Amino acid sequence: MVDAAGALAALVHGRVSTRALDRLAYSRDMWPLATWWFQQGRVPPPPDAVVWPGSDDEVAQVIRLARERRLAVIPFGAGSGLCGGTIATAGGLALDLKRFDTIGPVDPQRRCVDVGAGVLGETLERRLAARGWTMGHLPSSLAMSTVGGWLATRSAGLLSSRYGKLEDLVLSVRGVLGTGERFETPERPFLGPDLAQLLMGSEGALCTFTSARLRVHPRPEARAFRAFDFQTVERGLAAVRRVLREGLRPAAVHLADPSALAFHAQPLEARARVAAAFLPALFTQVGTRLLSWPRLLGPLARLATRCRLVFVFEGDPGHADAEDRAAAAACLSLGANDLGEGPARAWFQERNDAAFRHARVFRSGALIDTLEVSAPWEHVLDVYQRVRAVMGALAVVLCEFGHATADGCSLSFHFITAGGPRDEVEASAEQRWRAALGAATSAGANVSHHHGIGLVKRRAYQDALGEGRHALAALKRLFDPDGIMNPGKLGL
Ligand SMILES: Cc1cc2nc3c(=O)[nH]c(=O)nc-3n(C[C@H](O)[C@H](O)[C@H](O)COP(=O)(O)OP(=O)(O)OC[C@H]3O[C@@H](n4cnc5c(N)ncnc54)[C@H](O)[C@@H]3O)c2cc1C
Repeated sequence: MVDAAGALAALVHGRVSTRALDRLAYSRDMWPLATWWFQQGRVPPPPDAVVWPGSDDEVAQVIRLARERRLAVIPFGAGSGLCGGTIATAGGLALDLKRFDTIGPVDPQRRCVDVGAGVLGETLERRLAARGWTMGHLPSSLAMSTVGGWLATRSAGLLSSRYGKLEDLVLSVRGVLGTGERFETPERPFLGPDLAQLLMGSEGALCTFTSARLRVHPRPEARAFRAFDFQTVERGLAAVRRVLREGLRPAAVHLADPSALAFHAQPLEARARVAAAFLPALFTQVGTRLLSWPRLLGPLARLATRCRLVFVFEGDPGHADAEDRAAAAACLSLGANDLGEGPARAWFQERNDAAFRHARVFRSGALIDTLEVSAPWEHVLDVYQRVRAVMGALAVVLCEFGHATADGCSLSFHFITAGGPRDEVEASAEQRWRAALGAATSAGANVSHHHGIGLVKRRAYQDALGEGRHALAALKRLFDPDGIMNPGKLGL
């Protein structure tokens, strides 16, 4: 590696580091188990070097050199992935794309913009907003994820029910294959197989993205907010399904099950404000001990059945209000309690905080893991019930439903468990993932909706591919003949 560092430095104007601190910083993403390791003073295998190329040519040269020296290449966005996608299982080079930071002018006729792969979501949205545009892609990690990471994982934003997932917002992509060849896909729509769609979701295992032409939308003139409580999750899901199948297009749909509702209690409500002030301390004192007995907490959690649904509609004022009224009529006909716009506005304002509240759980020494899957409407309730039934004995289970379309929705399960000796925690984390994914897929779920596969879901993903895994392996051989691109991810 010492020789290669010199050769690499010559290719990228010296922008290479083998310093321990840099390698440490690039040794993981936000995979919960790796976060827990980190808190225990343990570092996942770090890359041998970090490289910051600044042009497509530099990326191509780095990859060619890596092929010659048989070095792994791990494309790195902002490291916010939740599946261990940037962990350097075989050492090698962390290829940080953040110098690809340009945002072109918006083309108002074609409604698109060219954006570098290293641009952070928040920077992009702020820049677009200043010109009266939005991408409509607002993942909770907007401030800490890049366009390249979104492409590589097929990310989904909060408003995906209206604007689509990332892959629906891409007109073309540019980058470098694992062969070291540059590529640029034709702009959609066009005839024939779509290379952009083939490469998106490849998690750095086939190529490195350097930029994309992205669709943009005029900023909405108005938003309508409304929240409902339902007596059961089943009723809440029926309401979402009915609204989407009636052809309404809420921008955001979020259904919190009773446990998630309690965990993410709206901090803007006065009662919850008080609770929020005491919760972390309470959790530290008694929470981790209680977590040792999920068998006790599970039945208690099942006593609560109330769940909360939030809709956000947007567009011109007349349109947003009309859709809001139609959705309300559908919900009320299913026995909903209309809470008005207050709780929905609060949820929207605080939407990105919820995920960061998990930090409190980690600080208390416990572990919170997130498993997201998706399912067609016919199977959603079954997936929810089976995962809860299997996981109830292993963890405290919360679930949030979102990203709804006429076909189905995503289910984000959060599993809270007590900490403990490292071996036990690792073994039980593995056991939980296997049990939860097994329950979800046997009930008809897909392995992932938007967080990707990374290391954690690689086996389940390969199983789900069935015979299709041979086609994926053939693509890997074609686009990455030496197997240097992000080894181990996607099970490749
Ligand atoms: C608090 C929190 C909330 C989140 N909320 C959401 C959410 O609402 N929606 C959602 O979709 N995700 C969410 N995520 C997950 C994460 O933000 C996404 O997966 C995101 O797309 C990752 O972007 P990144 O730039 O951080 O990529 P990284 O974590 O750096 O990389 C992710 C994967 O993509 C590959 N990669 C990165 N850049 C490139 C590139 N230029 N070319 C090729 N491969 C590349 C990496 O090798 C890795 O396999 C959340 C994460 C956190 C921590």
